[in-house]
Amino acid sequence: MHAMTDQRPGIAQTQHPLVRRVLAPNPSAFTYKGTQTYLVGTREVAVIDPGPDMPAHIDAIVAAIGDAKLKAIVCTHTHRDHSPAAAELKARTGAPIIGCAPPVAIDDAGPRADASFDRSYTPDDVMTDGRTLTGDGWTLEAIDTPGHTSNHVCYALPEAQAVFTGDHVMGWSTTVIAPPDGDMAAYMASLDRLMNRPQDVIYHPAHGEPIERPHRFVRGLIGHRKQREGQILRLLEKNTGHIPAMVAQMYAGVDARLHDAAGLSVLAHLIDLRLRGIVRQDRDQWSLAA
Ligand SMILES: [Zn+2]
Repeated sequence: MHAMTDQRPGIAQTQHPLVRRVLAPNPSAFTYKGTQTYLVGTREVAVIDPGPDMPAHIDAIVAAIGDAKLKAIVCTHTHRDHSPAAAELKARTGAPIIGCAPPVAIDDAGPRADASFDRSYTPDDVMTDGRTLTGDGWTLEAIDTPGHTSNHVCYALPEAQAVFTGDHVMGWSTTVIAPPDGDMAAYMASLDRLMNRPQDVIYHPAHGEPIERPHRFVRGLIGHRKQREGQILRLLEKNTGHIPAMVAQMYAGVDARLHDAAGLSVLAHLIDLRLRGIVRQDRDQWSLAA
């Protein structure tokens, strides 16, 4: 499974008899090699995360569908590298968009280092938690996993003991939690949700390689965030309570292009700590409570 080093945009790769992936040509510091669109099924298919609205990518998805019937276009969340192609794919195939809820309206979005939101996303039906979508030989079951965004949904494919994890759990990097829509406490609870599904043996993320031994991987993500929280508390003990200074110390070895995103993740931790009564905020200065 991990030997697929020659992944090229537009070429469908088989991951399982029921699962193929098509890489979009949108590589970046935030998307790794690009967004991976998944096709589930053979005679009847679902497309998960159609991706950015790029004609070459939509052509590649339509070619991969071939003579099969497209039952539904499914989105994990509405960042601009995931859902904008849904409308065009629907226009070209007639398939309904059945997936996550539309993005919530946020008045003060603040700086967004992560991909921005696709406000045009208009689902025909929303897959709330536990709802299923079926096709010939497959079932997709919605698992609400807010945190990366408030509307993030993963989809289990029990026939393959697999979960499509979108940006909740990725194969190349930890996810960005960007307040106010991103929520650290919700993200940690959503990691626990995956931990409590022993039946899953593989994750297919929107970015990066498939994740085998997924529970060990998720346990590592939980440990990583707890470590970050510990680092933040130690910096606050030393009166380093300004986010850029905290990022400079905590992310010294990380690509500087990602420092704004890292700052948002630190902010997400601080908001979580404030809600738990552990830290307090005075404008852009943070300190330990009491
Ligand atoms: Zn995202």
